[in-house]
Amino acid sequence: MFIFKSAVLLHSELTRLQKNGRSIGFVPTMGALHQGHLSLLERAKAENDTVVCSIFVNPKQFDDEMDLVNYPDPIQTDIEYLRELNLDYLFHPDVDQVYGPDYVDIDVPLNGLDLVFEGEQRPGHFQGVAKVIRRFFDIVQPTRAYFGQKDFQQTVVVRHLIQHFGLNTDLVVCPIVREHHGLAMSSRNERLEASKRERASFIYKSLLKLKERCYFKSLGEALEITTNYLQSIEDANLEYLVCVNGVTMQEVKSLDDADYIVACTVVEFGGVRLLDNIVLKDNLNNP
Ligand code: AMP
Repeated sequence: MFIFKSAVLLHSELTRLQKNGRSIGFVPTMGALHQGHLSLLERAKAENDTVVCSIFVNPKQFDDEMDLVNYPDPIQTDIEYLRELNLDYLFHPDVDQVYGPDYVDIDVPLNGLDLVFEGEQRPGHFQGVAKVIRRFFDIVQPTRAYFGQKDFQQTVVVRHLIQHFGLNTDLVVCPIVREHHGLAMSSRNERLEASKRERASFIYKSLLKLKERCYFKSLGEALEITTNYLQSIEDANLEYLVCVNGVTMQEVKSLDDADYIVACTVVEFGGVRLLDNIVLKDNLNNP
């Protein structure tokens, strides 16, 4: 595995490979790798000639300074993981390689996708995501880029970014990898006490129930029952549970309102914000 810290050197290396007709799969991460990340890397390996993973804790996407300072940084363990996977390239830049003196910091037009739900809870977060992804796509020029359904709103932002700038990259959205009891894997789960981790599976179980209820009740009724249930859980604070058009992030009232509908939730449990979602309808055949 080659480890690059320099954006310029990585760019020229990957340009050379592309000129030789090799496809490039790209998996951007912030490190603290777990099975969720590894599933993206394995898929990228299966579908491309060369795979690049980035590990970069992007300061622009943190609205809370303490969250940035406390973000886990087990880089040596991550490198071991990636070596075992036989990864081709790791890009592990310092901040000045990504946002150097020539970097022009202007907002990316996101059509308001950055202002709702997670964007409303975390002002500036999706602008930060869009900026780093745009910058990384310039450096890597990936044939395919792999993102997890786990961060669903992020996939909507990236799809918009690719379309808006007419980028020559295919977005591949990979299914959520879960712990055996159902909690979506996340670096944040480490902050949960062991006993709470298993209990937190109520979030996924209630999303499954919601999906089931949609078959014999209206979406409004199904949502109300699940919302009431989530609000009744001890120690849990439901931030939101919404059903949205999976392209525009606009709320839907019925399953007839869009071709791609996703139920998204955030529950604070044991002092940790836990995100999860479930696809209720997909007539777009998203990858
Ligand atoms: P992060 O390091 O948190 O920025 O995540 C890097 C990528 O891994 C993002 O595209 C995430 O959506 C994806 N990811 C994180 N957790 C999971 C999971 N449990 N299942 C699938 N993908 C995930």
